[in-house]
Amino acid sequence: MPGDSLLLNTKSVSQNTYDAIVIGSGISGGWAAKELTEKGLRTIMLERGRNFEHIKDYKTANKDPWDFEHRGKVTEEQKKERPYIARAWGAQEAVMDYWAKDVDCPYTEIKPFNWWRSYQLGGRSILWGRQSYRWSDYDFEANAKDNWAIDWPIRYKDVEPWYDYVERFAGVNGSKENLPQLPDGQFLPPMEMNCVEKAFKEKIEKRFSDRKVIMQRTANLTQPVKGRGQCQARDLCHRGCPYGAYFSTNASTLPAAFATGIVTIILILVLLIPVGGVGLVSVLIAKSAGMAFSWNVFTITALVVAGFVVVFVLFYGISLISVPAIVFFPAYSIYFFASRYPKLAELIYPAPPPPPIEPAPPLPIKPVPEPAV
Ligand SMILES: Cc1cc2nc3c(=O)[nH]c(=O)nc-3n(C[C@H](O)[C@H](O)[C@H](O)COP(=O)(O)OP(=O)(O)OC[C@H]3O[C@@H](n4cnc5c(N)ncnc54)[C@H](O)[C@@H]3O)c2cc1C
Ligand code: SF4
Repeated sequence: MPGDSLLLNTKSVSQNTYDAIVIGSGISGGWAAKELTEKGLRTIMLERGRNFEHIKDYKTANKDPWDFEHRGKVTEEQKKERPYIARAWGAQEAVMDYWAKDVDCPYTEIKPFNWWRSYQLGGRSILWGRQSYRWSDYDFEANAKDNWAIDWPIRYKDVEPWYDYVERFAGVNGSKENLPQLPDGQFLPPMEMNCVEKAFKEKIEKRFSDRKVIMQRTANLTQPVKGRGQCQARDLCHRGCPYGAYFSTNASTLPAAFATGIVTIILILVLLIPVGGVGLVSVLIAKSAGMAFSWNVFTITALVVAGFVVVFVLFYGISLISVPAIVFFPAYSIYFFASRYPKLAELIYPAPPPPPIEPAPPLPIKPVPEPAV
């Protein structure tokens, strides 16, 4: 961090104090980070998954079918690791590692329940289908009318301005249809229907006066906006869009939050790696010393605790070395404080006198030719 030294950070409290914490960086977390930072709150975002950088990490975005080792199919091994994903289209070679491993986070399935999770920066905002429709009062009043569960405490008019707000930023395309069950919004121009769709629409609407066939409304840009390009209709969105042409945390809300300069992201797994690593080394040393270890809940707990102890001792040891270094070695102290306080540095290392200014060489004077008479 700015102003830090390897040895002592006197600003650590102010540098690590936040007004808001956002947990998770999916669609919800991205919006929360954008809104909070734009209102001036210093915000920290905690994400359990891996870093996933916009554009750079969309490694399969421009690949053709023949570029994939298994021609787009997934292996039996991958199906075993992600059995819920393997049930449907999510099982594609191009995006298999975008999904959380089901075996690492199992759940009890009493009825069929596809819980597709994505633990990475951006969460499911990379993989979602981008279909973006407003709810109407048919939806908000359905519970009350059917006398089922709890009535919604809000109605369409309460959320309408927020739909406007979100659509304007996210970029949703669609046609205005004036349908009570599907309110219109702040749309970008709709995508064009192909000739088959046009013929289908014509036939249906001619035959059934109360039916409408409309173009889908999606969070794909049909016009470029600042920092994001127009959709090229490549139908490869789930791999991540190099043009930033569909709405995702990584392409939209996170860059807006970063632009404020007051958001910090911590990938908590990154913090666990040194602890786990040191713990693992401790166990390996214990094993090589002849102690019997098997991988069960107790030994794993011991591993993590051992990791914490070793990391703590290391940090404590470093602090013990650094403080006496500053107190007892005056030369080092001067260097240390001078590196922090520019005014002190000016006193200790006065700026060298400026080099003497050399007179400019005289300009060559060209003789003016005599005018012809
Ligand atoms: C294939 C697919 C297609 C979809 N299509 C549509 C669609 O067309 N239209 C639509 O409206 N919706 C669609 N959805 C649903 C939509 O994507 C989700 O509702 C939305 O993305 C949820 O956003 P979220 O931020 O709540 O969760 P997520 O996007 O899942 O984000 C959660 C984030 O939190 C992180 N996290 C979880 N636990 C922790 C923890 N303990 N500590 C730190 N971080 C944590 C995760 O790693 C993840 O990054 C689709 C979903 C899928 C999977
Ligand atoms: S948003 Fe458009 S350009 Fe981007 S990946 Fe999807 S189809 Fe391609």
